Amino acid sequence: KAFLTNIEASNPSLNAYVEVTADKALEQARASDAKLAKGEGGDLEGAPLGIKDLFCTEGVQTTAGSNMLRGFVPPYESTVTANLWREGAVMLGKLNMDEFAMGSANETSAFGPVKNPWKAKGSDAELTPGGSSGGSASAVASDLCLAATASDTGGSIRQPAAFTGTVGIKPTYGRASRFGMVAFASSLDQAGPITKTVTDAAILLKSMCSFDAKDSTSLDIPTPDWTQSIGQSVKGLRIGVPAEYLIDGMSEEIKALWQQGVEWLKAAGCEIVEISLPHTKYALPAYYIVAPAEASSNLARYDGMRFGHRAEDFSSLDDLYAASRAEGFGKEVQRRLTIGTYVLSAGFYDAYYVKALKVRRRIAEDFDNVWGKVDAILTPSTPTAAFKLGDKQIDPLTMYLNDVFTVTTNLAGLPGISVPAGLSSDGLPLGLQVIGKALDEATVFQVAAALE
Ligand code: GLN
Repeated sequence: KAFLTNIEASNPSLNAYVEVTADKALEQARASDAKLAKGEGGDLEGAPLGIKDLFCTEGVQTTAGSNMLRGFVPPYESTVTANLWREGAVMLGKLNMDEFAMGSANETSAFGPVKNPWKAKGSDAELTPGGSSGGSASAVASDLCLAATASDTGGSIRQPAAFTGTVGIKPTYGRASRFGMVAFASSLDQAGPITKTVTDAAILLKSMCSFDAKDSTSLDIPTPDWTQSIGQSVKGLRIGVPAEYLIDGMSEEIKALWQQGVEWLKAAGCEIVEISLPHTKYALPAYYIVAPAEASSNLARYDGMRFGHRAEDFSSLDDLYAASRAEGFGKEVQRRLTIGTYVLSAGFYDAYYVKALKVRRRIAEDFDNVWGKVDAILTPSTPTAAFKLGDKQIDPLTMYLNDVFTVTTNLAGLPGISVPAGLSSDGLPLGLQVIGKALDEATVFQVAAALE
């Protein structure tokens, strides 16, 4: 009830929820109360969560932030959310996001931008909560839910977490099932939580992950209890600091934050190791070929016939497809689909797509080459603090630069967490990222908890 009251008061201005399922939430909460009274219940019994509108929820509209899916009510539940309900979680509603998870500012949503509850010192300007999981981050940061689900294809969990002073983790690729998650780029997409604390993230991620035969890339391995890692001494852990992440034009503030993180870990007994990940500078260009390529294939299904919005005015079948897609998809999605179709087309496929896959392999090998020397890697989460809404809309390339520290882990399939680690000079939250070996979320949580 407290969260529903907060939603009523603040959602009209923050625009974090696209739909609030109040009646359902209260009904679920009452059932949880009854279970808890009997000493029963799951790991998340009664926990009120917000769900990114990318996860299919049976009987509740799921739009992925797009007019293309407005009015779509899934007849089935995503595996991630089904896992949460099985543990007793309560759904407060569906959270706003960039259209089809394409964006870094939550400005591409068909439901309008989400606002960051934070404001810079001495300024009234509205800031972005980041994207694409901007609704999730804004809702958690402003107490419109206890925690939220999110998804990360190139940084969409970690960047909004960094911009809102919350915690966000993307697990190893294959830990969380993609079944029922609206697809963006299937080889990169992973679900994860945005929470207030590292412990909450460990609890929530465990419930979200499971082997799922309905996702062919799901890993058939047990999900550990990551809360065990929290509070464990980090003494003797070797922490890598990659030289290539010190990018041109990095602000003094972010440099200082990174150095502060190094000092904290040193003081806690970690050994700091300078490492090199030489192909880092190719990560963004490779990502912005691979992700749009996969998106152009995944989103081909929205043709106005089988799935998605159908145009009313058309003169032929081809025209129906074209008109439906032109009306249903926003500008950024159309840009990605155009790039994706181009890089996959005959004549350009080898020069762009195959080349990007080779670069992707090199980036993964960079990480493989350092794991003998380090147990985890520390970097900033983002190159800047939250920026003004509308600021970068005109220039997609500047917007893409936001993902410079986060896309590498998606390309390599590795786990990465963003933890709040300080404030900028104008009082905005900044995050540090801890990257781990594949399947070693335990060390990621351990180091993150030491930074918290
Ligand atoms: N900002 C990146 C993009 O626009 C990442 C998005 C995401 O992780 N879903 O593609």
